[in-house]
This record gives sequence, C-alpha cells and structure tokens, in this order.
Amino acid sequence: MAGIYIHIPYCRQACHYCDFHFSTSLQTKDKLVKALAREARLQQNYFSEWQKPGTMLDTIYFGGGTPSLLSGDEMKILLDVFSDTFPVSPGAEITLEGNPDDLGKDKLLAIRQAGINRLSIGIQSFHDEDLHYMNRLHTASQAEASVKRAQDTGITNISIDLIYGTPTLTAERWQQNLETAFALDVPHLSCYALTVEEKTALSHMIRSGKALAPDEQHIEQQFHTLVNLSGAQGFIHYEISNFAKEGFHSRHNSSYWKGEPYLGLGPAAHSFIGNRRQWNVRNNPAYIKSIEEGTIPSESEELTVNQRFNEYVMISLRTQNGLDMEKVKTVFGNDFVSHLELEMAPSVTEGMVERKDNRILITGKGKLFADRIASDLFFTE
Ligand code: SF4
Repeated sequence: MAGIYIHIPYCRQACHYCDFHFSTSLQTKDKLVKALAREARLQQNYFSEWQKPGTMLDTIYFGGGTPSLLSGDEMKILLDVFSDTFPVSPGAEITLEGNPDDLGKDKLLAIRQAGINRLSIGIQSFHDEDLHYMNRLHTASQAEASVKRAQDTGITNISIDLIYGTPTLTAERWQQNLETAFALDVPHLSCYALTVEEKTALSHMIRSGKALAPDEQHIEQQFHTLVNLSGAQGFIHYEISNFAKEGFHSRHNSSYWKGEPYLGLGPAAHSFIGNRRQWNVRNNPAYIKSIEEGTIPSESEELTVNQRFNEYVMISLRTQNGLDMEKVKTVFGNDFVSHLELEMAPSVTEGMVERKDNRILITGKGKLFADRIASDLFFTE
C-alpha cells in the first residue's frame, strides 16, 4: 500500500522548540492550495512503475505546519483532486493534524464533511506552564475542550501529541497529563521527549540563560511513567513514540516504517519510492512559483545499499516487531547478517537488545536509547 503526505506550511505562531518548515504569514495560502492540487496532477504517474494492478493508496496525511488552518472547502478540493488523480482506496485512512485553537465546532464539522476520518491534535500538555514554556498558542482548557468537541462532532479516531521532559513539567503533572488523556478516551497517543534542535528559539534562549534546558534523568523517568501507565490502560506500545488501542495504530506512519512508497506534496515534503528519495524546496514562494511554471522544485538521490540497510535498522528497531534477520539476509545479504551479529553483542550484554527467534528487539531498558543503539549497528564501510 502507498500513501500521500501533504505539507501545509503555515502556523499562527512559532513554537519555541519547533524546527519544521512553516511560515507565520498566511498570505500565500490560496496560491499554495492551488499549487498542491497542481503538483498532485503533475505527479499523477509517481506510483505507476511500482503499482501492481489493483493496488490502491491506503493513506492520506495532512501534516505541517498546521493543516487545521485550511478551510473545509480547501480540504475537500484537495481530497477530490487526489481521488481523481490516484487510485485512493474507499477505506483510506485520511488524517489531519490540527491545533486546539483552530478546532471550533464549525471547523470540526467541516473537517468531517470534507472526508477526514482521523484527527491528530497537537495538545503537548494539559498545563498552562508547559504551554507557555513551549510558546504554544492554546491554553490547557482549550486543549481539553478541543478533544471533547471533536468527539461530540462524531470524530472518534483521535490521536493526541504530548511532550514530556519540559523543565516545567513535574512528575506529578506528567502523570496528570496522561490521566487526562486516558479520561478523554482517545485511542492513540504520540509522545515525544522535548529535544532542543539547533537554530530554534528554544536553543537560543537556553544558551542565553533565558530558559531552562530539559534534563536527561527527568526525560528517562517520564518515559518510564508513560510506558507503564499507558500499558496499564491497554495501549500497545507499537513504536518508540506511539501508543495505540487495538486497531487504532496510525496506518500512515506504519507504512513509512515498513518502507512502503509515499508521495509528499508541498514545500519541504519528502517522497520515497523504490530506492529513490526526493524532497521539495523548503520555501513557500519558490515552491508556488515553480509549480505555477509546471516544474516540481525537488532534488532526489538514489539510496545506496548501506543507506537502505542503515535506514531499515534505524526504523525497524523503533517498532514493536523489531528487526527481521531473515529480511536482512534476503534483501541485503549474508555480510550484513554477520555484521549485525558482531555489532549487536555489546548491546545484548548490556541488556539493551534481545534476540527472539529471528528478530532483534529493543528491551524495555533500551527503548529510550533506540536511536543510539541503532546507529551502533550501522554499516559504514
Ligand atoms: S504548531 Fe506545530 S509546526 Fe507550527 S510551530 Fe508549533 S510545533 Fe511547529
């Protein structure tokens, strides 16, 4: 199965920790929506080489930025173009990311009427102190109300994003955040440790002493609280940062983790098919101008075997199913199997990874260090 990702590069306000591509000026939004529709048509043959007869697109994901800044009509126009241009499955998962400050009753109804069937809400915290630290636009009460309103509108497939490790987030408040999420009965949680990316406002503020930095020990404790409490509530920890009730995992993100092809539309959007990765220019006016001229402003690269192997290691170890040695043997060959056997030994001794049948899995102890463990297994020669 394959999917489409649409990047909506606008936000009302810049969150201090964010390094995604977005603009706080919405002046180009109308032109951008037209450009997204045109890019879809220009890319109508993107999947054709790969597509087997009868294969359909299973997921559409509006990410950003803040896709809830689109009107219901704009969402509908784009979805109509996608179904006219690609073979979209009638049961496709169609997700829209939204922020609590946008999700009034009318917008939620419009989202539903446009055909969106999964909502991912950027809550981050149910406490105003944390929201203020992050420079989020919404308040804690707006956060909670937006989830309830979405449910009242009939949207039940809801994911919420939460951030832990914020210096203002005490252990008690983190537990309250999780309990609020459980009480709201949302079937999916995406929970990320606060990371300080270079060139963000947060990085600058920490360096100039205007904000506290996240604390590693604090992050570790809160991660363990998250794993324990969500497990007790029946959530399946199916990827390091993702937790779902049975049947509610993100089909779109899972297809990335399985290495399935996807087409990214919009500024800074990435695409992947076969061994080729492609990325669009990270500039809204440049993107719009180029698409208006009929050219997709992108660069691409063919991944080498080592790059593909390293990517498989990085992604698979983060998931519940782990790394499949049989697949490594079939796709990459015996040298890669021998390399893994050798390089994983220290992590096995430390109790960070374990072998179950033909799979390599990160243990509970290793989960927070998955990316480091994976990079120790990379093939660099
Ligand atoms: S709303 Fe999301 S994309 Fe926009 S600045 Fe905040 S974190 Fe970044």
